Amino acid sequence: MRDYKRFTTIVIAALLIVAVAWVGHVTNQEVETVVQQQFNAQQLLLTRQSAAGIESFLEEKTVLIEVLAAGATDAPPEGMAQSFIPIYYRSRGFFAIQFVNSTGVVVSGYPAEDTPVGFDLYAANKNQAFDRAKDRREAYITDPTPLFEGGLGSCVWVPVYDDNEFKGVILAVIRVSALSERFLTDVMPEGHGYMYMIDHSGRSLYDGAHEEVIGKKYIGNFQANNSSYAKILREQIQKKDGTGYYFDEITGERQIVAYTPVVWRDRVWSVATSVPASETEALIHSVYRKQILFIAIVIAIILAGSGSIVLLFSRWNKELECEVEKKTDDLRRSNMELASANTGLLELDRLKSEFVSMVSHELKTPLTSMKISTDVLKSLSGSEKDIRTREEMLRIIDRNIERQKRLVSDLLDISRIETGNLKLSLEPVNLYDIIRESVESMRKIAEEVGIPIHLDLQGESPRITGDHDRLVQVFVNLIGNALKFTKEGEMRIWARMVDGHPEIRVSDTGIGIPPDELDLIFDKFHQVDSGLTREVGGTGLGLAICKGIIDGHGGSIRAESEVGRGSTFVILL
Ligand code: ADP
Repeated sequence: MRDYKRFTTIVIAALLIVAVAWVGHVTNQEVETVVQQQFNAQQLLLTRQSAAGIESFLEEKTVLIEVLAAGATDAPPEGMAQSFIPIYYRSRGFFAIQFVNSTGVVVSGYPAEDTPVGFDLYAANKNQAFDRAKDRREAYITDPTPLFEGGLGSCVWVPVYDDNEFKGVILAVIRVSALSERFLTDVMPEGHGYMYMIDHSGRSLYDGAHEEVIGKKYIGNFQANNSSYAKILREQIQKKDGTGYYFDEITGERQIVAYTPVVWRDRVWSVATSVPASETEALIHSVYRKQILFIAIVIAIILAGSGSIVLLFSRWNKELECEVEKKTDDLRRSNMELASANTGLLELDRLKSEFVSMVSHELKTPLTSMKISTDVLKSLSGSEKDIRTREEMLRIIDRNIERQKRLVSDLLDISRIETGNLKLSLEPVNLYDIIRESVESMRKIAEEVGIPIHLDLQGESPRITGDHDRLVQVFVNLIGNALKFTKEGEMRIWARMVDGHPEIRVSDTGIGIPPDELDLIFDKFHQVDSGLTREVGGTGLGLAICKGIIDGHGGSIRAESEVGRGSTFVILL
């Protein structure tokens, strides 16, 4: 039962731990997805902000040149550069502003050192954009091209018309580096990714991490056609807006890219942020760590809880075991008591049977004698001899009546002693007188058996309080036993004061009593199993009555003996 409870608790604890770990795992995955989504959205927002900045920068420059072209119809072509100066300085980002006359020759511009005055576009075969602007009658923007001075520049060609008369084209060169410095360079914190920008053909206009790429195409040069980065670049070329991952073959890291198009009139570029995936992983790991700590705490609580439950169960079980043990002990004890009571009862039953057979025997024997005597009496005539026989028969009848009377009175006495109803008539008595009286009453029997009785009563007779008749009964009984169990020798009665108390010793030179019987002979019906005992008969009640009487006087009685040499009964009053 105890093992079953412990096992159940452990199983529940294990299930709880698995459940907590599973919930933790699922939550982790959700957290990971949410963190990544959030991060990507944030990167995309950053990219869009930069793209919006670039768009408004370029649009502002274009509009400025358009305004300039609209108001430049009357100005002489050579003096046009004067009107470029305020715009050049007010709106930073122009590399140069030049005027190309209607025949395609550069005639003026600012700054003068960056203006190739006299350069004939038609002669150099660089007249395509010029023609486009002239034909479309509106601004035309070319893709960024390398400048003589280095870097990339994008050209805005704005035609100047005076009504329908074509006057020429204002050409403004905008440095790509001017806008990348302003909108892309310091956007990303140092060491946490970079920005890059490509034109519609996939050429790099700016790259915060790889300067050597600028002006060149990624795909085919720096990235294999089928690389994961090439896939993202293709999305960008298709003017899409979104996020993706690629594997950087140089750093060996996974990068997260957020890209968005930059629209400048009919030119569309694409700007992007590229951040190592480890950025989000660091974030996720920090959440992981906290979650694992949380889960560990929960598991520790579960373990501690289940441990306490197991402990509680075992304590309860222990208490229960103690209780059961105690009850078993009680049961065992009461069983033993029952068994001993049973033995007692069996012993009592045996005693009862013995008692019945003894009493029947003791009653029957005198009755038989009396019956024989009366039969003899009936047959007698008046002769001299018969007269003597009659006297003898009457004596026998008298003796047996006495014997029965004694037996009945002994039975009554023992019953009174056992029920606590032995009444003593206490009064001041003379102990030595009682002893002498008892000896006198037994003198005749003593003479009959030939055992002399010696009295040795020392000092003055002590005055004691006692029941005269009962004390005589005790001494008569003891003297009677001594005479019964002594075949030859003598018997003696001593009396003296010991420590202020009278001590009486009744001794004989008879058969003696075995040591293991010395205490038992004071039990009722107990007789030492010997041939002499059987021969002399008796009830086994005499000593039990003596002890009851002496106890009733507050005294004690004991026997001392040596088998074959005699016995002494010692009374202390
Ligand atoms: P009983 O009627 O048999 O004498 P008692 O109670 O007086 O009963 O004595 C119990 C038994 O003690 C006797 O049967 C006897 O075996 C033993 N006993 C008593 N007195 C003496 C004695 N003086 N010498 C030897 N045995 C004795």
